[in-house]
Amino acid sequence: MSCYKGKYADELIANAAYIGTPGKGILAADESTATIGKRLSSINVENNESNRRALRELLFCTPGALQYISGIILFEETLYQKTAAGKPFVELMKEAKVLPGIKVDKGVVELAGTNGETTTTGLDGLGQRCAQYYEAGARFAKWRAVLKIGPNEPSPLSIMENAYGLARYAIICQENGLVPIVEPEILVDGPHDINKCADVTERVLAACYKALNDHKVLLEGTLLKPNMVTPGSDAKKVAPEVVGEYTVRALQRTMPAAVPAVVFLSGGQSEEEASVNLNAINQYKGKKPWSLTFSYGRALQQSTLKAWAGKEENVKKAQEVFLGRCKANSEASEGKYKGGAAGEGANESLHVKDYKY
Ligand code: 13P
Repeated sequence: MSCYKGKYADELIANAAYIGTPGKGILAADESTATIGKRLSSINVENNESNRRALRELLFCTPGALQYISGIILFEETLYQKTAAGKPFVELMKEAKVLPGIKVDKGVVELAGTNGETTTTGLDGLGQRCAQYYEAGARFAKWRAVLKIGPNEPSPLSIMENAYGLARYAIICQENGLVPIVEPEILVDGPHDINKCADVTERVLAACYKALNDHKVLLEGTLLKPNMVTPGSDAKKVAPEVVGEYTVRALQRTMPAAVPAVVFLSGGQSEEEASVNLNAINQYKGKKPWSLTFSYGRALQQSTLKAWAGKEENVKKAQEVFLGRCKANSEASEGKYKGGAAGEGANESLHVKDYKY
């Protein structure tokens, strides 16, 4: 089979491998303007450009935090923003050896012919946008496909449509120098047990890799961002060791060893749960030919956001909280997290039904 061998091939392979550097992971700070608005309103802060910039500066400028981070996913607005002192965020990241990433999808719409399932939009003009983002310093991209578990869901149609969407996005990214993060998120919503989640995760991942192969994607220059295999949000929780075993097994059965790293989403788990489960995944004894690390949004930022509350005088305290979470997840990515990283609300569930990013 011939896959992408164009001018960016070596760079894609090197950048994907770099993101999977042991002990590092991704900060997902690519909340759309509407989504970040919900976060800001939870701390009574107005959703304007200046406050969105201030929050991102707080995160990116946390002393010591970027040693644990290999990539940051940005929303388009943030890619072009600067620190208050005038340094472009992209410059700051380069100096800290953090690759800038960019969310390139345009959200989900209902997939006609299904019972409320969705497909992701944003393929029109994607090549041009990727080229502009590369020019601006981005080196990887994210596209979130969303699937749900129900009595008859995910339907074969939604599995196929979302897999092909991800594959088309992935090859377009590669042709423009961006490492595609392939994110088929299976929502945690529902009363299903962990076996059901494992079964669905395996079917979805198998379809994704078939589609990626069909579209001639260079797997060494991609990353997978899946959900962990867990029981549904309305079912009884299981021990982290069980999540570790089921998650690694689903990956072993479906995910080519050519892909350098898996960067899990947190998907509504509490901060502490997301760290402890990632740790258990890495402690699981079995074949694991990829790095297994984090690409967390909510589970890296929630306590920090609360500690900040939009007040300048809280920035230092909030940054300490953020540093603690980055360090915890870095340790978890190597199976060395002992638990207990502090932070107000570290154990609070961050689950939002039918989550829109
Ligand atoms: P969460 O970690 O909050 O699930 O978000 C990660 C992400 O980037 C989803 O697309």
